[in-house]
Amino acid sequence: MGDTFQTIVDRDAAPQDARRLARSVVDLWVAEGIVLADAEAGWGLGELPAHPPGPRWHKAVDDAYGGAPEGVVVHSERRVFHSTFLAREPSTSCPRCAAVAADPLLISEAVERWHRTGEAEFRCHACGEAFPLPAWNWSEDHLALACLGFQFWNWPRLSEAFRARTAELLSGHRIAFLAGKV
Ligand SMILES: [Zn+2]
Repeated sequence: MGDTFQTIVDRDAAPQDARRLARSVVDLWVAEGIVLADAEAGWGLGELPAHPPGPRWHKAVDDAYGGAPEGVVVHSERRVFHSTFLAREPSTSCPRCAAVAADPLLISEAVERWHRTGEAEFRCHACGEAFPLPAWNWSEDHLALACLGFQFWNWPRLSEAFRARTAELLSGHRIAFLAGKV
């Protein structure tokens, strides 16, 4: 069986804004009945507190039939978010010229450094410019390096409308949507 997750990530939330933005999103979901206000352990994977589904959780999904969602974990600290449903070999492309990064090993070293320190640049082999790692574009959203993400455990597929409503609250930031299974 395993557990599935869907993560809505704000790629552009600054570290100092992440908690405030997280609260504004959760407040809206609580008002809509999507989740409950108080996060508790036992509703997500592991011991991280998660917001249990609210009385109208089905408003967030296309097809609620047979769904038995668990909690929503809110991450508001630096994190490497990932997905596992990939159609092709994952790749990373330059934010300026879209050239695909030449060396995946170098990239993974930089990802590790970013996770540790919050700072890592990667130089494009094609246009020669160096960009902070979170600016790079990851194929099929297979990675997102960010400070804000909402992870839904074992929910039916979140609807486009729900994801769009959430994105509106995040003031024009780039949004990644990462799904997977553990
Ligand atoms: Zn480039």
